[in-house]
Amino acid sequence: MTVRLRAHHLLCMLTFVGKGYSPAFVENYRQVARRLSAGETIEIVEGPDDICAPLLDGDTHCREESVAARDRQAAEAVAALTGTAVDAGTLIVPDEALLERLRAAFGSGELRAACGGCEWSELCSRVAAHGFPGILVGKAPLAGGGR
Ligand code: SF4
Repeated sequence: MTVRLRAHHLLCMLTFVGKGYSPAFVENYRQVARRLSAGETIEIVEGPDDICAPLLDGDTHCREESVAARDRQAAEAVAALTGTAVDAGTLIVPDEALLERLRAAFGSGELRAACGGCEWSELCSRVAAHGFPGILVGKAPLAGGGR
């Protein structure tokens, strides 16, 4: 199995600390986080993904062009960082070395262009500024990180 992620969720997964749009959304996201933490391969998809899934029955932003634009910005930024194209069908192994590299670039602002206008931006900035405590994808870098 692969974890199907749209490109901007490569960023969002870095700061996921158990907050989200609804209890069902968070529970599903926690399951995705467990799979990613176990090293399951990511498959990049266009449009709604395994994290969006619980939102798709309702009036959701997941299919909006603004979100697709966020995906494109994130794909470009991750590709520039890693030197590997990020397109639909790209497979990415979320090992700790990659997650650390992504976190460092997220914290420095290098990966944040895609975050413009996002309602969660303040939370994500705070998580990054404090060294990613309590994150649920990969190993929380600080002791006492809430897992
Ligand atoms: S600010 Fe929004 S788009 Fe950026 S990582 Fe956080 S949740 Fe994702």
